Amino acid sequence: MRQTEHTAIVLRYANYRDNDRMLTLFSPTRGRIEALARGCRRPKSALLNASELFALGDYECYERGGRMTVTSATLIETFYPLRADFDRLACGTYLLNLAEAAVQPGEPDQELFMLLLHTLSRLTFSDQEWKPLLAGFLLHYAACQGTKPRLNHCVHCSKRLTETEQVYFDQAEGGLCCHDCHTQGQTAVSVAQARWMRHALETGASAWVNEPDRYAPFTLLRGFVESRVDKPIRVASMLPKE
Ligand SMILES: [Zn+2]
Repeated sequence: MRQTEHTAIVLRYANYRDNDRMLTLFSPTRGRIEALARGCRRPKSALLNASELFALGDYECYERGGRMTVTSATLIETFYPLRADFDRLACGTYLLNLAEAAVQPGEPDQELFMLLLHTLSRLTFSDQEWKPLLAGFLLHYAACQGTKPRLNHCVHCSKRLTETEQVYFDQAEGGLCCHDCHTQGQTAVSVAQARWMRHALETGASAWVNEPDRYAPFTLLRGFVESRVDKPIRVASMLPKE
């Protein structure tokens, strides 16, 4: 038996027996952790709030035979106001689902962890629109996954793309292509949208909000990212209508 402590956020839970829950935690240093929270559904349980979706905390666990059990938890943040707004709750759950699709047991991912916390904080505590927030998340998520879209050169002919030309998004190739190389069915990307994406990637995961929000190509980035994750993101159907 071994006692360990993990700063982590709850990505998912499954109710178990009468009062227990199996938590799927995301730790920036340990990746995905499955941990049993015994008795957490009892109204007076000390683990009650730490066993909810979005709960961020320090989880003390003991490990035995490869299984983890939560013994105590200190809450850092619950992102509670998300629950008061159905649309923002759906957006937040979408972020958790995408994170879950990416994190692997035993594989640290500090960058994705910080990206998730930043975006959840903005979604919960700012009045920023959800669409550019999620678009920024998707762009940086792709970068974390090693599939950063190519935005400066045509993915077919490698020509340098200028700031002012009409470009298109080639989902299969993972980036922009020029007018000469584009084929039917590829999404046209406006000059402003291309600029928004380049700027968002260059300024890093915490500063992308500075560009005018209305240019964020959310639908395009969503199609791109969701086509590259292994399992369908079910909650995506509950996202607010644009
Ligand atoms: Zn080209």
